[in-house]
Amino acid sequence: MPMHDVYLIDSRVHRSRIRIPIIHPISEKGTCVLYGMQSALRFDDNPAYFRAREWARARNLPLVVAAFGDTGWKHATEREWGFIIQSWKDLYERAAHEEISFFAYAGLTKDLWVHAIRKFSPAVIIADEGYASWSRNWREYAAQISHIHFEIIDCNLVVPVLHASPKREWAAYTFRPKVSAQINDFMKEEYTTHSVIFPKVKNILYDPLAVDLTLPLHSIIAQIKPSSRARLVDEIKGGETSAKAQLQKFLQHGKGYALQRNQPGIEALSGMSPYLHHGCISPRTVLKEAKKSLPTEDFNALQEEMVVRRELAHNFVHYETHFRSLKGCDMWARETLAKHKKDKRPYLYTLEQLENALTHDASWNAAQNQMRITGKMHGYMRMYWAKKILEWTPYPEIALSYTIQLNDIYELDGGDPNGWVGALWAIGGLHDRAWPERPIFGKIRYMNEAGLIRKIKTLPIYIHQYTVQSIDKLK
Ligand SMILES: Cc1cc2nc3c(=O)[nH]c(=O)nc-3n(C[C@H](O)[C@H](O)[C@H](O)COP(=O)(O)OP(=O)(O)OC[C@H]3O[C@@H](n4cnc5c(N)ncnc54)[C@H](O)[C@@H]3O)c2cc1C
Repeated sequence: MPMHDVYLIDSRVHRSRIRIPIIHPISEKGTCVLYGMQSALRFDDNPAYFRAREWARARNLPLVVAAFGDTGWKHATEREWGFIIQSWKDLYERAAHEEISFFAYAGLTKDLWVHAIRKFSPAVIIADEGYASWSRNWREYAAQISHIHFEIIDCNLVVPVLHASPKREWAAYTFRPKVSAQINDFMKEEYTTHSVIFPKVKNILYDPLAVDLTLPLHSIIAQIKPSSRARLVDEIKGGETSAKAQLQKFLQHGKGYALQRNQPGIEALSGMSPYLHHGCISPRTVLKEAKKSLPTEDFNALQEEMVVRRELAHNFVHYETHFRSLKGCDMWARETLAKHKKDKRPYLYTLEQLENALTHDASWNAAQNQMRITGKMHGYMRMYWAKKILEWTPYPEIALSYTIQLNDIYELDGGDPNGWVGALWAIGGLHDRAWPERPIFGKIRYMNEAGLIRKIKTLPIYIHQYTVQSIDKLK
């Protein structure tokens, strides 16, 4: 039996969630089990945390959780850092109750891994999985340099990405049957932790390089000095506790989700995306709770978005190298966009005009304001918003770059496979089919304001909300 299989024999973590990128032995001199936390900022229903606890119990070692925030991510602003720090503070309080050592670090991920491995000299290392190539590379780099048994655990998908499909899927219709056949199996997993007293960490109760989470949020942000292009938002707070509160809020108004989720003037959406993006809650927890509370048609609609669409986006980012470029789109889409590249645009806006919601279109401006001010644009408006950027900028490549940039900077769920795939769907026809040909868009699906007004009865409410309110707030 290969050495890593021996290690996995007694684990209750589903085998297909665990990836061991390189075979290294357990360090017999190691003084703790280290969980390097980055993509799953939670303790509950977290298979990586659960696995780290299994190891700590098995070896009778202290458990250290080191959370890493990457200062190298160019789109991270005060807004995103605020959310991350709030999430860390939440974990820090909980860790104190559970007598687990919790440290949080802001820096370049690679450097943070090196520091944590040196500082804590672990016997075993656990990391939560990343889906973009750079996040996978950091983890694999850490595994390589550690020379210690290193496991990477897929925590944030219902069906682990490698298990759902061995290849890039064409569209929801090819992915849906594969993933649907496996959902029930993966919903049965149980990662509830029970209180266990782990041995205490000796001599490392303080690390001057760690973020002091007892300081107020603003002081920590001032130390990290992120860009202030997107300001902190009051409406959405980071953390596992806030994620659970948002879920409860959704369950109270979620009846009607199937029918009303395309109406931006009504509070019908779950609001879970910032929490899913930062791993403050597991999609399995959301689904389990939703199943108990929501009518079947609403639950099914939620499962379609949260498992089929969300995990299809992760499938694309995992298997496609060009996951933020039109090169990742199908040939028909690239050809049609190339054919219409020189078509005359009815309006041309600069990035600055778009960013400041200075277009002629009140619906578009409202959507941009909603994102800029609250950190979350309504899902239906995101489609319209991105398609208009294609129509109002000189080339599809520029449109994609502006869309991803604005999305990643201002959305609290930005910098996520869903966002990159959403932008490629809107501009590059990804996971979609060809539509009747027309100027600028070619065969890419088109949306216009008249259609929006016809379909969305609540549009005037929405426009009012994010015009008047935004002007007041921006003063
Ligand atoms: C141009 C564009 C940009 C987008 N940017 C992002 C982004 O940065 N981050 C992000 O998480 N989603 C993004 N989406 C997808 C979707 O709009 C959001 O997930 C959704 O609006 C989030 O709000 P919610 O959690 O209240 O949604 P709900 O409708 O309540 O959905 C529940 C969950 O299902 C998933 N989901 C819903 N719709 C989609 C979808 N179309 N594709 C994939 N997963 C989905 C999300 O995880 C969401 O949290 C984008 C879509 C487009 C067209």
